[in-house]
Amino acid sequence: MKLIPVIGLEIHVQLKTKSKMFCACKNVLGDANPNTAICPICLGYPGTLPVPNRQAIEWTQLAGAALNCELAKHAKFDRKSYFYPDLPKGYQITQFEEPFCLQGHFSIIVDGKERSIGITRIHLEEDAAKNIHTPHEKSTLIDYNRAGTPLMEIVTEPDIASPEEAKIFLQELQRVMRTLGISDADMESGQMRCDANISLKKKDEITLHPKTEIKNINSFKFVEKALLYEIERQSAMWEEKEIPQHATRGWNSKTGKTVSQRTKEAAADYRYFPEADIPPFVFEEADVQNIIKALPELPWEARERFMKEYGLTPVQSELLIENTDLAHFFEDTYSEIAQLDKERSDIAPNDIPHLATLAAKVLLQEFRLMWEEEFSAGREIRITPENFAELIVLLKQGKINSNAVKPMLLEMQRTGGDPDAVMQNLGLAQVSDTVELEKIVQEVISENTQVVESIKTGKEAGLQFLMGQVMAKTKGKANPKIVMEMLRKATRKSN
Ligand SMILES: [Zn+2]
Repeated sequence: MKLIPVIGLEIHVQLKTKSKMFCACKNVLGDANPNTAICPICLGYPGTLPVPNRQAIEWTQLAGAALNCELAKHAKFDRKSYFYPDLPKGYQITQFEEPFCLQGHFSIIVDGKERSIGITRIHLEEDAAKNIHTPHEKSTLIDYNRAGTPLMEIVTEPDIASPEEAKIFLQELQRVMRTLGISDADMESGQMRCDANISLKKKDEITLHPKTEIKNINSFKFVEKALLYEIERQSAMWEEKEIPQHATRGWNSKTGKTVSQRTKEAAADYRYFPEADIPPFVFEEADVQNIIKALPELPWEARERFMKEYGLTPVQSELLIENTDLAHFFEDTYSEIAQLDKERSDIAPNDIPHLATLAAKVLLQEFRLMWEEEFSAGREIRITPENFAELIVLLKQGKINSNAVKPMLLEMQRTGGDPDAVMQNLGLAQVSDTVELEKIVQEVISENTQVVESIKTGKEAGLQFLMGQVMAKTKGKANPKIVMEMLRKATRKSN
């Protein structure tokens, strides 16, 4: 039986506002001693009143604009009642019927094809406190620092067709949150948490079957694994003619399985009703337009621009989007390169595109490796975009060869020096002097007469061997282009 997965996601994102959602307490995002960022409001003392955080609301609307949502002109907060020790008021302030954002869509690229995923809604709520279970579950401690911090919930339509797609969706969503600067959206530290809903259906079936909700998954990898596991589990049930019923399950990363959890209350059990202490919100068209205008360049726009403006490949663009620091460095390098033809007589305007693609290539290989190492060692990058651009020119003009790039970068980083000086100091200038090279080529030819003979009979592979010999004699500094020409000439078939 051919079964198709139907997947929808509910994603909670911690907003990194300075203060909490309804009080002036610092929003410490897990970075403080327990119960040090608390006050009577977030502890739910009787008689206190919540004051909504304007920044959190604007950021939620900004996220809505990025995900092509309709930004509601009317919105309100509601109370969702349930009893749990991590919820001091006995209810959570959230949004039920009138969230800030509705009906959006978000495109992702899966296997080179664009897939549009519907966004049902985005609403804003307060987070609960954090329960900390002591070893062996002997007792539970509660840290109220997280109570009342702003939490945005993004709900998708059941448009996601595979576990891989779910993972790609979350990765792209993380990039959006980071680009907007509203959350670091780090899954491992709980800044972005995902519940995944999944059911199976037969091909061409229209009605959906009851779904399994997999709660609180905390990494991209686990989302994919948990969904794959659920597909297997539910398929087995279908095989037994037993269609899975609505269930709540948790992901156990140690066993690699989902396990049954308490069944979730229905909406009626939560007794939703309007939050009487916060008046409803009314937004004018101008407010909405101002939010849309504040949108920065989004990841897919940047990806498109990198390809168009700089001639980068899709893979190069993707790598730059993954690392915004590197992307900024590349763009600064490009401005330096673009300036060069005005300043230097040896660079013509039509050299610029070649220099740009060469810069991207080196940046994403040797430079990126060095950058990551320095970054993890906590060191600042001392190479400026200007010096990097000059290094690329040296490479393009054949003054150094590609073997010299790595040692040059390391030395430039160590000393902060400019590439010309570093090239001289390290003695890495490429040997392009034809008289000198011709002498070495002749030496190699006379030392390897057998190889030369084999080349003359058509065995071209010998050329690479001779090239290696020349490189060894020049300590890798010979200009490979010139050497190859000389070798071809010297080993040409004698008529
Ligand atoms: Zn507080």
